[in-house]
Amino acid sequence: MERVGSRAGAGTSPALRVDDVTLMYGDVVAAHDISFDVRPGEFVSLIGPSGCGKSSVLRAIGGLLPATVGQVSVSDTPVTGPRPAEISFVFQDLALYPWRSALRNVEIALQFAGTPRRQRRARAMDALARVGLGDVADRFPHQLSGGMRQRVAIARALVSDAKILLLDEPFAALDEQSRLNIGAQLIAILEEERKTVVFVTHSLSEAAYLSDRIVVMSPRPGGVRDVIDVPLERPRHASLMRDPIFHELTDRLSALLYADSQGVT
Ligand code: ADP
Ligand code: MG
Repeated sequence: MERVGSRAGAGTSPALRVDDVTLMYGDVVAAHDISFDVRPGEFVSLIGPSGCGKSSVLRAIGGLLPATVGQVSVSDTPVTGPRPAEISFVFQDLALYPWRSALRNVEIALQFAGTPRRQRRARAMDALARVGLGDVADRFPHQLSGGMRQRVAIARALVSDAKILLLDEPFAALDEQSRLNIGAQLIAILEEERKTVVFVTHSLSEAAYLSDRIVVMSPRPGGVRDVIDVPLERPRHASLMRDPIFHELTDRLSALLYADSQGVT
């Protein structure tokens, strides 16, 4: 057995496993026969055309949507509902509480995770400082820019000790420059804390830049078309985007993604 001691995650059991999962909303098939696993500390992106079921797969991993067929497991235990101590997420439609300050929006994640009250404030402050918002902790969401609100949501997801982080297009509302900045901050934090990440994006370059592996889904209802290893070393820097290997990778992803999408918008 080679289960012990490998920090890279190779040879250990997966942090999470999606096993032949089909997801339905009533009669609507949202995702079909999805299987992939994610190793401890690994960063895996899900890409695919709009409506192919990426968000639904993420919700199933987070325990918010039950699998109609198949099973999601975390550390070899079936997921049957939210597990805030182990899994945190940033979903696009999961807004901040408007009546709570940035600080209190972050603190609530610790409350859900069962962290003792007296530790919450300092940890929430620290999480806000790490995303560059230490000086606006007392502001309310309507007093923050869109990018700042998104960073509060990221701080809220990072603050707990949950080892698995689910991110659904967390940078979608940001301009290109903030995207790069926040992406770099996120990567630095994740490398420090060795979180396991499942990341949904429609940006091929974002997926290539951030991931260890990329799950490419087919059009609606999506299945897994291919799983691509990202052959780029870490730490990664923005200069990577000028590397021919980076472009080969995004070209390959694009070819996979759009292979059969002529005429589909
Ligand atoms: P993606 O994130 O890849 O754009 P989604 O997971 O949001 O895809 O959606 C996959 C499919 O499931 C789509 O056909 C969508 O219309 C449908 N769907 C998503 N959420 C719901 C819902 N709450 N009720 C009914 N159908 C839904
Ligand atoms: Mg989505």
